[in-house]
Amino acid sequence: MMLPFRSDRQTRVEAERCLQCYDAPCTAACPAQIDVPGFIAMIRSGNLTGAAETVKTANALANVCGKICPEEIFCQSVCTRSKQDTPIAIRELHFYATLHESRHGYSTPRFFSRNGRSVAVVGAGPAGLACAFELAKLGYQVDLFDRRLPGGVPRYSIPSFRLSEEELNCDITFLSRYFQFQKAVIDEVRFREIENSHDAVFIAVGLTMDKPLPIPGAQLQGVIPVLSFLESAREGADASAPGKRVIVVGGGNVSLDAAATAKRLGSDEVVLMYRRGEKEMRVWSGELKEARQQGVQIQFFTTPIEIFGRNRVQGVKCRRTRLSDERDATGRPLPLDVDGSEFDLEADAVIPAIGQVPGANFLRLFERTLQGYLKVNDSFATSRGHVFAGGDVVGGEGTIVQSVGHGKKAAHCIHRYLSGEMDP
Ligand code: SF4
Repeated sequence: MMLPFRSDRQTRVEAERCLQCYDAPCTAACPAQIDVPGFIAMIRSGNLTGAAETVKTANALANVCGKICPEEIFCQSVCTRSKQDTPIAIRELHFYATLHESRHGYSTPRFFSRNGRSVAVVGAGPAGLACAFELAKLGYQVDLFDRRLPGGVPRYSIPSFRLSEEELNCDITFLSRYFQFQKAVIDEVRFREIENSHDAVFIAVGLTMDKPLPIPGAQLQGVIPVLSFLESAREGADASAPGKRVIVVGGGNVSLDAAATAKRLGSDEVVLMYRRGEKEMRVWSGELKEARQQGVQIQFFTTPIEIFGRNRVQGVKCRRTRLSDERDATGRPLPLDVDGSEFDLEADAVIPAIGQVPGANFLRLFERTLQGYLKVNDSFATSRGHVFAGGDVVGGEGTIVQSVGHGKKAAHCIHRYLSGEMDP
């Protein structure tokens, strides 16, 4: 990972390396479809505000993505410049421009002419915010609802050492000029009211419930659901280490964040336990490297079979695993237990991070997939007339920028539907 740029001169030197490719593979690889050569050309000419505006117009969470987007799998992974030497530091240029603008004053808000229709967006995380912003640009009156402050995963689950409050609030401050936000708990009754008072609804409530570990002892004191752990760690200065010896179970970015956070909060020993190998992990390589450097130990090919202790956690009984030839729904090889390989690990806290599922109760009104996600068609339409959905609630854990991409695409589907061009 590159060090962030510190001056306009540094950014301009980097921007000069861009080849301004005609086919812009970087833009094609960006789920939010940012005009990458366009904003880099503006940085070259010293127009940082224009660069920030170009990025923000395409990506509602511009500043957040500039800080934490995994460029290694999106724009930078396909940058033509890497055929000559190294890819352009697209994310860092993007972040420099958007943060510069937020610190030096936003440009005058652009108000889009209204078309007389209204859309409700339920869920103010990345997909909801992106959809709301895109619909506002298309002329809709947008009412955004969430039981908590806007931001979703970036506000509540991403550790503050990766994304600060200030960096998130830059985006929220910019966006809040374009729609009405209401803090509200949405149950079935309230959902029906919202549905009846708007021309369309977009649901982006994300995944709010942790999957429990299906093993004995998972109810013991000291077993901490990962979402509440990350949220309380983000909340502030008085967050304390979850324990001296902590075991985090899982192989995704959320488990890696939890392990790195526990270490930073002062836990002496943090073990990340994963039932497959490093190749099968769903994490960004930079973050894995960082976590190792911080001292997080990783036990691959290991699965917990029991959490033991009197009233509270004292350790975890584990078993070794190996990979079979069979694949699961994600295409990864299924792990098999290795008989007779059981062993114990001492621990005083266990953080299961094996995935999340949708939690909002009004989702009972909809058809769901076998995994519990909301069922949508290619146009993001749900089983209920004029209700659309996108983001993690329809497909599991994606990246922030993928959720932004969903929100944008869904907004255009809603627009086509309300313009009579599409039957969902
Ligand atoms: Fe510039 Fe790389 Fe995009 Fe080409 S692919 S326009 S070099 S950032």
